[in-house]
Amino acid sequence: MCGIVGYLGDGNVYDILIKGLHRLEYRGYDSAGVALVDGNGEISVFKTKGKVSNLEAFCADKDIDARVGIAHTRWATHGEPSDSNAHPHFSGDGNIAIVHNGTIENYKLLKDALIQHGCEFHSETDTEVLAQLIEYIRVTNNCSLLAAVREALNQVVGAYAIAVVEKNDPDTIIAARQSSPLVIGIGNGEYFLASDATPFVEYTNECVYLKDGEIAEIRRGQPLKITTLDNQEAEIDITKLEMSISQLEKGGYPHFMLKEIFEQPDTLRDCIRGRVVENGTRIILNGVNDNKEKFLNAKRIIIVACGTSWHAGLLGRYLIQDMCRIPVEVEYASEFRYSKPIIYKDDVVIAISQSGETADTLAAIQIAKEAGAFVFGISNVVGSSIPRETYSGCYIHVGPEIGVASTKAFTGQVMVLTLLALSIAQLRNTMSQDKIAEVGNHILRIPDYVEKVLKLNDKIERLSLIFTYARNFLYLGRGYSYPVALEGALKLKEISYIHAEGYPAAEMKHGPIALIDQEMPTVIIAPQDHLYEKIVSNVQQVKARGGNILAIVNEGDTVISNIADHVLEVPVMPECLTPIITSVPLQLLSYYIAINKGKDVDMPRNLAKSVTVE
Ligand code: GLU
Repeated sequence: MCGIVGYLGDGNVYDILIKGLHRLEYRGYDSAGVALVDGNGEISVFKTKGKVSNLEAFCADKDIDARVGIAHTRWATHGEPSDSNAHPHFSGDGNIAIVHNGTIENYKLLKDALIQHGCEFHSETDTEVLAQLIEYIRVTNNCSLLAAVREALNQVVGAYAIAVVEKNDPDTIIAARQSSPLVIGIGNGEYFLASDATPFVEYTNECVYLKDGEIAEIRRGQPLKITTLDNQEAEIDITKLEMSISQLEKGGYPHFMLKEIFEQPDTLRDCIRGRVVENGTRIILNGVNDNKEKFLNAKRIIIVACGTSWHAGLLGRYLIQDMCRIPVEVEYASEFRYSKPIIYKDDVVIAISQSGETADTLAAIQIAKEAGAFVFGISNVVGSSIPRETYSGCYIHVGPEIGVASTKAFTGQVMVLTLLALSIAQLRNTMSQDKIAEVGNHILRIPDYVEKVLKLNDKIERLSLIFTYARNFLYLGRGYSYPVALEGALKLKEISYIHAEGYPAAEMKHGPIALIDQEMPTVIIAPQDHLYEKIVSNVQQVKARGGNILAIVNEGDTVISNIADHVLEVPVMPECLTPIITSVPLQLLSYYIAINKGKDVDMPRNLAKSVTVE
């Protein structure tokens, strides 16, 4: 949540900041702003409610000449989206300007104390409290900006990534992080700063991921210096980026979401590459092979995640229980962390997050580590916090996902969980070699199957017109198709703002069946698996009550096809692989319904992609 950009160098500061903000807009887009320090050391702050394009219009007639600058695109936590709550925030005397991602939990206490000392506040944000606190400490202690930032951060409880610039110093940015991401790009005589590396990929491929409790001093003409909150010098690990600009552009598609849906054959190929070998007969996951003992001895697996990743986690449970016969619990990270969880040393905890920065999931990881469990991370963003905080793990390798509603990351997560289950089964001998080979062989063909499913695009676009004005949807599935139903409903809610509920198909008769009528479409995911006969009954129950059914069935299905009002046919798969295939048409359905309603699918209201606050 919130995107931070900073730049210090001889390039065009304003242009670099604005371009960077556009790249980070997926993280929040309710307001945006820049603080520019010119050659005379004057700071100008321009900020406005709305998207980055509003900020550009606002700045059109402003003097944007600068030597250094910081910028922000906001996802409000404290105070409504407004011009005054937008970042950057000034200290009372206008000497420093700050941008912040995160939440300051003790802001009220600090604010009251600062008011007692005569500070006046101009916004409702927790961020302004930090700005005023830094300046108050600097004046009271007569110390440098760096020392004041360090002291202020030692008084703060909460999560932050911050960047601070100061009047009369066009050659410095001070930056720090605790729980919210921040990465520094090192160019030729220039420095970049951002919440993720996307704002500077075209300028440099060398970067340093700041760690929790670290403060960076970025000074013109000087090497980067990093110290800790207790003023110890920290090591600087330079990472080489492997990201290309084309991955960050729409490539001819009208929206990132559609591009990402259509990329899935390729992203699944990337995800599988090198992991399914010898014609599908052997699965290699280094994260498992390097920690064989942990997986051999695991008595239980706990999966922690949020949102779409939690749905992938539910599929992980079916996969691991099916293939490895290890009991699996799947928890919302936000509930798990406060539920006084009982964790044993021989538990394996799997944390899943696309961004690798999800605040609740990171907190759950800490709890699991403190309890002595082995923690395994699944994420998409190389170098993000989850891979760094976990003992081992696996990237999904689907490339940057920019559309706020997750699509290719979901199928990547499900694929990695499938490979994880298979490799644990291989290790524990819980599956016959023939069965592993059968599944492995189909996995190699999954990208082609997904390509085939994408050919349903035009049909789904036409079908979407029938459903656009429905006010409620029910999504039903059983077994492996139940989490797919949950994910299908979530996708629709996120981007079309239509209320949708996902339910286990058999549970429907314990309540939701009361809602069924002609007005409420029911989407039923019904591939020919071992529960097929059961779901046929559920389809009949809906039809008997006048429901309007869209069913996802296998090619050649004759039974449900004759009952349902509309069907979408997908290829036949081994049961454990059906979720990847059946979730794709549901992504397209949500996309087209949202488009028909004129919604902004890439930046749906109130949402942000990387949820770095509690
Ligand atoms: N707490 C700050 C605000 O409300 C930053 C929010 C965020 O990082 O999402 O402005």
